[in-house]
Amino acid sequence: TKNNTKQQIVIIPSPGMGHLIPLVEFAKLLHSHHHFSITILLPSSSPPTSAQTSFLATLPSAISYTFLPPIDTTMLPPNIAHEVILHRVHSRSIPYIRSTLASLSSVVALVTDIFGTDYFDVARETGIASYMYFTSTAFCLLFFFHFYRLHETVSCEYRDMKDPVVLPGCVPLYGKDFVDPVQNRNDEAYEVFLYLIKRYSLPEGIFVNSFLDLEPDAFNALKTEDPNRPEIYPVGPVIQYGLGRGADEGLECLSWLDRQKPGSVLFVSFGSGGTLSYEQINELAIGLEKSGESFLWVVRAPSDSAFGSFFTQGQGGKENNPFGFLPDGYVDRVKDRALLVPSWAPQIEVLSHVSTGGFLSHCGWNSTLESIVYGVPLIAWPLYAEQRMNAVMLNEGLKVALRPKAFESGLVEADEIARVVKDLMGGEEGIRARERIKELSELARKTRSEHGDSTKTLSQVAQKWNQK
Ligand code: UDP
Repeated sequence: TKNNTKQQIVIIPSPGMGHLIPLVEFAKLLHSHHHFSITILLPSSSPPTSAQTSFLATLPSAISYTFLPPIDTTMLPPNIAHEVILHRVHSRSIPYIRSTLASLSSVVALVTDIFGTDYFDVARETGIASYMYFTSTAFCLLFFFHFYRLHETVSCEYRDMKDPVVLPGCVPLYGKDFVDPVQNRNDEAYEVFLYLIKRYSLPEGIFVNSFLDLEPDAFNALKTEDPNRPEIYPVGPVIQYGLGRGADEGLECLSWLDRQKPGSVLFVSFGSGGTLSYEQINELAIGLEKSGESFLWVVRAPSDSAFGSFFTQGQGGKENNPFGFLPDGYVDRVKDRALLVPSWAPQIEVLSHVSTGGFLSHCGWNSTLESIVYGVPLIAWPLYAEQRMNAVMLNEGLKVALRPKAFESGLVEADEIARVVKDLMGGEEGIRARERIKELSELARKTRSEHGDSTKTLSQVAQKWNQK
């Protein structure tokens, strides 16, 4: 491959580790496979956190980064949706992005995420090609492209629509499973969402962290429905290979897993910040116990908001009794076949461990891709963002996930949890889900191998950039 160290790619992730990590993984790929040098520009609403600085400090020198001056968001009302905050930070950061771009040389492309659409205009002014990196499914992206029409034709709240929406080649999707920002049409998040999706036709191309064999029909629709759409590039699965936390919790998890039987452990985790209510945690605890299966559970303190610790990444939980909210005597009762860890586990290492046989997950797309790559079947327990859409696709479409039934209130009862856990770990449905996801795992490996589709797609784009 040609040496591109002079040609630069500018990458602009939204604030928050959840946005930074996937874009950095993509940056690493552009650098390691195609030798571009990368500049990451970091808009924010607060000074850099230690999680950010220590994560960024591990990058090779060809990937540099600059924190932009923080944007004051304290004037926004409390409880405002995070989409609104992110959009505000980006739109106010435009002048900094503009002046930084002007000071850099040999920039061949600008890549941002789904919230950074304001930078498409800045790139155009400076004659730089802009791209979006989409960290979810082709199904979700297709839904976004179709959404404006729904907005114009549906007058009620989407969750009250009787019929599901059927996108070409996709599982039927009911309004209640639509992404969070459209669940209340009067919320400011809805306005921001409409603003953003209208701008998804502006970049030159959209990279999607999914792959052709996983969603052939959705990708086909994305590419062929509308000639005015940007180029669509399936480049996934791009997953992280260990966040290098090096915490003792991590070691404890792995040595405990070493002592379990192959395929016997259910891993239970709700992503980097997902939390459950007090009542739901207790049902889950009892359900896991009743299932009789072994489990490794990343237990977070209860919260009324589903992404209770999204921004703090569950820093708490180190007090004297980190599991004080669990039923009396629980930890003792399950200690022979369960390991409970507070706030964080080395997920990649856990999913790739032979003892792990199932994953009860919030269906965040990164977690989902990791489960696919390592061939671990799922129990889908979506919480926020586009996770309900992912759950529907995994359960009804790909059939690699079981989904517990919830009450009208959303609560999932202990007996139902015990039933799906037993089914996943040893029942008929579990066996089929395991077979299916092993097939997908093989396809995931192939598409990212030297001559695989995702590898070739990214190489083609890199070649185009090289010719600039
Ligand atoms: N993760 C981890 N340990 C944990 C929880 C999360 O390593 O205890 C990692 C996980 O492997 C994934 C990311 O954090 O790469 C979570 O991303 P995802 O899209 O699944 O969910 P989000 O946190 O954005 O809701």
